[in-house]
Amino acid sequence: MEVLALTALGQLEYQDRSIPNPNAQEVLVKIKAAGICGSDIPRTFTTGAYHFPLVLGHEFSGVIEKVGDGVDSSIIGKKVAIFPLIPCNKCTFCAEKYYARCTNYSYFGSRRDGAFSEYVVVPTFNLIFLEDDADVVASAMIEPAAVALHAIRNAHLDLNDNVVIYGAGPIGIMIARWAYLYGANKVFLIDIDQRKIDFCSSLGFKYVCNSKTEDPIKWIMEHTNGIGGNVCIEGTGFSDGINNTLMSCAIMGKVIILGNPHENITITRKTYDSFMRKEATLKGTFNSVYKKYPHDEWSEAAQAIYEGRLKVDDLISHKVNLKKLKDMFYIIKEGKEFTCKVMCVNN
Ligand SMILES: [Zn+2]
Ligand SMILES: [Zn+2]
Repeated sequence: MEVLALTALGQLEYQDRSIPNPNAQEVLVKIKAAGICGSDIPRTFTTGAYHFPLVLGHEFSGVIEKVGDGVDSSIIGKKVAIFPLIPCNKCTFCAEKYYARCTNYSYFGSRRDGAFSEYVVVPTFNLIFLEDDADVVASAMIEPAAVALHAIRNAHLDLNDNVVIYGAGPIGIMIARWAYLYGANKVFLIDIDQRKIDFCSSLGFKYVCNSKTEDPIKWIMEHTNGIGGNVCIEGTGFSDGINNTLMSCAIMGKVIILGNPHENITITRKTYDSFMRKEATLKGTFNSVYKKYPHDEWSEAAQAIYEGRLKVDDLISHKVNLKKLKDMFYIIKEGKEFTCKVMCVNN
């Protein structure tokens, strides 16, 4: 089978590998769709991977092709999405089903080979079974949709809250959509890339702002009677983004930090002083909740996508095959072309 492997920093190579065999309690998944995550770009070009070679790809879906010992063979042919984190099942956090907190986990596409490939072996624990008529390509978006849902759930949104989101990539847009589903009043999307702003407008978002050409704080205050966002989400990972997010927050509002940092984050004295006096709350969000009572964010995201309550297919700006995938990494890195979600789709 063919894989796209990261063999060194900045070096993507096609390799021919043998199709792996599932062991006990594992299945072989024929990959149907795998998205490029924003984090895959620094992983490829700047920060590097845990080890080389590594096949990236942690947002994916497919069809069960083969089962290992102890697995019911009637699931062969079923459509699945995959929770990419493989927990140790030994630590305190795993015992509480906080798998994203696991202290010794493995991860498809970051610590073990992922989905920019034709096949991957997956433990049955990590399978999310999809409806027979589910859109298998859209279902590769369940992972970022669950991450977006987790961010919104961490914000404990209240009915009619105004929500501010810095960073209008796929996750920012999905957070905006979840926020409306949760009963938000106005949702503000801010970015510094005019193409993303135009894209959000084309999707029907009313409150979109390019913070390079317009003062986002002034704009938000104008649209919220001078109050600001009850919930403000930082998705950029840059100092400007976090300063703007903190300054956009209402008195006693909430700020959720979501974006992976791209630099040392500096908060200005003015921002710090203003945030402190507002008695606002600052909270982080990371990954998502899987198979935990009462809210399994993965099955909730899968269901919302299947039922069309959470629209995601219009966020897929590019569908390419594995052969073209390597070029897409460079297109995204260099920003030559507008991209929202780039999806590798196998036949
Ligand atoms: Zn990701
Ligand atoms: Zn663990």
